[in-house]
Amino acid sequence: MSLIHQTAAELGRLIAAGETSAVEVAQAHLDRIAEVEPKVHAFLHVDPDAVLAQARAVDERRAAGERLGPLAGVPIAHKDVFTTADMPTTAGSKILEGWRPPYDATVTRRLREAGLVILGKTNLDEFAMGSSTENSAYGVTHNPWDLSRIPGGSSGGASASVAAYQAPLSTGTDTGGSIRQPAAVTGIVGMKPTYGGSSRYGLIAFASSLDTPGPFARNVLDAALLHEAFSGHDPMDSTSIDAPVPPVVEAARQASVDGLRIGVVKEFGGNGYQPGVLARFQEAVDLLESLGAKVVEVSCPSFTYALPAYYLIAPSECSSNLARFDAMRYGLRVGDDGTRSAEEVMALTRAAGFGPEVKRRIMLGTYALSSGYYDAYYGSAQKVRTLIARDFDAAFQQVDVLVSPTTPTTAFPIGERADDPMAMYLADLCTIPSNLAGNAAISVPCGLADEDGLPVGLQIMAPVLGDDRCYRVGAAVEKAFEDRWGGPLLKEAPAL
Ligand code: GLN
Repeated sequence: MSLIHQTAAELGRLIAAGETSAVEVAQAHLDRIAEVEPKVHAFLHVDPDAVLAQARAVDERRAAGERLGPLAGVPIAHKDVFTTADMPTTAGSKILEGWRPPYDATVTRRLREAGLVILGKTNLDEFAMGSSTENSAYGVTHNPWDLSRIPGGSSGGASASVAAYQAPLSTGTDTGGSIRQPAAVTGIVGMKPTYGGSSRYGLIAFASSLDTPGPFARNVLDAALLHEAFSGHDPMDSTSIDAPVPPVVEAARQASVDGLRIGVVKEFGGNGYQPGVLARFQEAVDLLESLGAKVVEVSCPSFTYALPAYYLIAPSECSSNLARFDAMRYGLRVGDDGTRSAEEVMALTRAAGFGPEVKRRIMLGTYALSSGYYDAYYGSAQKVRTLIARDFDAAFQQVDVLVSPTTPTTAFPIGERADDPMAMYLADLCTIPSNLAGNAAISVPCGLADEDGLPVGLQIMAPVLGDDRCYRVGAAVEKAFEDRWGGPLLKEAPAL
């Protein structure tokens, strides 16, 4: 098997055992990037010399007799919303073009400490606002299953790079679904950890009470290994949870659902859902039952209000967070010719530097927070948020995990929803409740829709700090499906 087709776990083992070198593994992935990147456009930055230098350092550590960790020397694609001191960081926005951060995000630092080789920075919707990467200021990313379709978003470069075998692993961030939705529509695994389980320090903020870094991989165990590598308490993030990382790797290895109680969320399904998505979802539910789980239907009535509540809370926080892009401190500065006031330069810079969706969110959020409207909009949305968390609490009294389709449809064509924000927002209908409540949720592949032959994701939601349950159930589903499919769903990137 060629190096690019290996799992991350196997690559780590081969490198630690000296059966291959980190440099060879890095070169194989750089070659793959050179080959398919013109079709996929997953990356915003790749510096082959810097990649090989990182790999050489790992090989030298091994040669010096150091015992390497499970992911040392394994390549990873890093979402361009985490700061990297040695690479540009744009968040997909013109306003940060050319900006070099002065420090590494905690997630970046932990990748380096684990010996992961950072291949480059991946494309995303501007400031992680979107579900398709079409909002990137640097061009759209293409889905490796069908190049005319979106790879999901906002972490679309991250999902596409893994689905295109450019990298075995990638990082993402999930504020409303930006890991799980891209994973679902590219046929890979994507996990949103419990909020506060992974550090936001050095993550360019969109909506701080929701933003959560998490892993992408082509299989559940690899995702768990990466999750473990960069998660855990960080004193630099005031909302970081000071508790041990849930035993995610052990759970991924356990891969069993025997005796578990699984709740099917009644509110997710029916109208607006693609029939092929619902068919694959039902098969996954039947499969879980056949594996020994007890499946019941569970009602979470407040989930119906999650989307509108999110589109008040997320833009409100965004309008506050993006105020820092004031033309003085970072990146772009427009019209500063000595004749204009600071305010005029700020206005010109923001007009030129922010794209239409970011402007829409800033205006929505500013409106929702404005005096006289605050209680009606932001205040009501926060109440809905509490009701959603209570629905989860009540559900988890009855069941160990909840399941739903990850997305209502498979990957849609590029351009189809670009001018229809509401249609775009609906892509996250099923993922948003877990962001509002802060609990853990994963998407794992559950087959291809009959209508279009495109991947469908199964979402598994677990309580706060129950991340290990997502991996345990996800791995069981993966194992059972692989027996049926004769291997992973994604054996080759079909369009490449
Ligand atoms: N698609 C959602 C939005 O546009 C979620 C984005 C995200 O999770 N970063 O806000």
